[in-house]
Amino acid sequence: MEQKSVACILCNKQISPGGLLKIDGDVYCRRCIHDGVEPIAVYPIGVVRKDGKDGESRIILQPFMKKFLWKLDEEAHLTIVYFLHELHEIPTHFMRRFDQKSVGVFASRTPSRPTPIAVTEVELVRIEGTTLAVRGLDAFDKSPVLDIKLGYKEIASGGGGRRRGLC
Ligand SMILES: [Zn+2]
Repeated sequence: MEQKSVACILCNKQISPGGLLKIDGDVYCRRCIHDGVEPIAVYPIGVVRKDGKDGESRIILQPFMKKFLWKLDEEAHLTIVYFLHELHEIPTHFMRRFDQKSVGVFASRTPSRPTPIAVTEVELVRIEGTTLAVRGLDAFDKSPVLDIKLGYKEIASGGGGRRRGLC
């Protein structure tokens, strides 16, 4: 099926469906949104697969990433940074879920944002080779994973949570 290009509401240039953002229902090109700033290239380190059971997701890392996994299996809580590859619509105001307050994007953790990067705390269940099984990752299947960091709960509890049986 052929998708028609549409015009940016500000510069009136035609944009392909892959390059547009819909904000409050209006279509904008990235050049107008970001004041002409060029994008930064970021390499993903792996991909999310949502094929696990019991709320588990898999993070399949690229083989080279094995070099960076040392002692990760001792930790129970991780922060996953990933790209929201399926997101193209942004409401500027909406109701925050946890307190029902009406706010803008930057006063929230909504996934609908100009730079669609999500940061989520997860539990590490196990590591098999370069595949991590985690719990609590609210990502779509095939989301590119940008980074893995030690979770805040590990820092607060002194680290090594899995080794100490906390997960
Ligand atoms: Zn434009």
